[in-house]
Amino acid sequence: MNFSSKLLEDAVNEFSKLPGVGQKTALRLVLHLLNKEQEEVSNFGNAIIRLRQEIKHCTICHNISDQHICEICTANKRDKEVICVVEDTRDVMAVENTGQYFGVYHVLGGLISPMDGIGPSDLFIDSLVQRVATTPVKEVILALSATMEGDTTLFYLYKRLKDFQIPITTIARGIAFGGELEYADEITLGRSIVTRVPYENSLIK
Ligand SMILES: [Zn+2]
Repeated sequence: MNFSSKLLEDAVNEFSKLPGVGQKTALRLVLHLLNKEQEEVSNFGNAIIRLRQEIKHCTICHNISDQHICEICTANKRDKEVICVVEDTRDVMAVENTGQYFGVYHVLGGLISPMDGIGPSDLFIDSLVQRVATTPVKEVILALSATMEGDTTLFYLYKRLKDFQIPITTIARGIAFGGELEYADEITLGRSIVTRVPYENSLIK
């Protein structure tokens, strides 16, 4: 692409680094912003800068948060003794959107994937075991995607947690999660949280 302006070229290059955005789309977005009021574009830029500079991760559940402890972990009405284990923030949002879950979360920050060189120590697994060992917990719900990585992680977590003698449950497999979740799937996800089953049952089948 031949640009008439270095400023234009720089902006297009930055946008085209985003996932799924090619140079043509980047150019369209940049030209769109150029037509906006100065203040609107400043708000746009500031939101991204503040996001990166100020965002925190909850020290209890590792979810993305504005505070050191997130709103879910501090909410009085949430049952702190039920922990739903998920891969990332999108999954927390998906489960929250169902309106069917009233416990707290533990965000792993990924799934075990030997192919990608991601092992248990790369994830927030030790801190989950620590939570279960040091705070009263009456159930751990493993809500991970039905992929090979999800299954590997489920089994590993089960091995790490089973000696604590608390119910370890899982949602129905094959449920769409996080990024791919659409409204119809939210209903299914909500139902599968309500009808979760002991993880041992899924091992026998
Ligand atoms: Zn939290």
